[in-house]
Amino acid sequence: MARIALVTGGIGGIGSEICTRLAKNGYTVIANHIPQEAAQAEAWKAERVAAGLNVDTAVGDVSSFEDSARMVAEVVAKHGPIDVLVNCAGITRDTTFKRMDADKWNAVIDVNLNSVFNVTRQVWDGMLDRGFGRIVNISSVNGQRGQFGQTNYSAAKAGMHGFTMALAQEGAAKGVTVNTVSPGYVETPMTLAMNDDVRNKIIGGIPMRRMAQPAEIAAAVAFLVSDENGYVTGANLPVNGGLFMH
Ligand code: NAD
Repeated sequence: MARIALVTGGIGGIGSEICTRLAKNGYTVIANHIPQEAAQAEAWKAERVAAGLNVDTAVGDVSSFEDSARMVAEVVAKHGPIDVLVNCAGITRDTTFKRMDADKWNAVIDVNLNSVFNVTRQVWDGMLDRGFGRIVNISSVNGQRGQFGQTNYSAAKAGMHGFTMALAQEGAAKGVTVNTVSPGYVETPMTLAMNDDVRNKIIGGIPMRRMAQPAEIAAAVAFLVSDENGYVTGANLPVNGGLFMH
């Protein structure tokens, strides 16, 4: 039986590559998306199914505990228990702390950090009971080093790895691994939309002098969630072209 993988934010720039890579590796992959992305999700699925990939989509707002519970229950009823969870949904609401309001703060904490609790909580007991599970949280280099204008995002992303390290200890003796992947700058629609000056300045500061391809993030995730990887847990794997080393 193919392993079942759920990827939150699964039809986004990085999430899409993770889904495609895992499907190519033989997983049954379910990509979560928000209701506003329904049309996009349908096209996303059709394209991949036509290419012979075993993918499905699941609508749900992962910033809501109740909606996450409903979504996971539906996925499990349709596909069976979830073996692999990749928490990839994320947003930014950048501004200096002087201009940071409660809405921008809470939105980023809810979507990037509380979502990790909301969704992981739904799959955790089953993973422990079955003695197998793989969880990867997609954080960011800016959770490791901080970033001007991103107090909300850096706090959420650093929080994700705290969660990883604590939960990894609870899963370690039960066959469940929990890891973080911290991408640097990735070539997605968001970063491609930057003006050339900003982009070139960023690239100039990266030792590899380029941004990551989303597939390079997916490759790191594919390793961490594989059956083969039974011994890496609680790690924070940087995929950042040498931008930040620790
Ligand atoms: P993206 O905007 O293309 O994808 C994010 C996805 O999350 C979108 O499809 C969005 O609709 C979804 N999402 C937002 N709110 C949601 C919610 N409440 N419930 C469910 N889904 C929701 O962005 P991306 O660049 O692919 O980023 C993916 C992850 O990687 C994010 O967590 C981001 O913080 C992280 N990251 C990105 C970069 C980068 O350079 N692009 C760098 C480091 C980390």
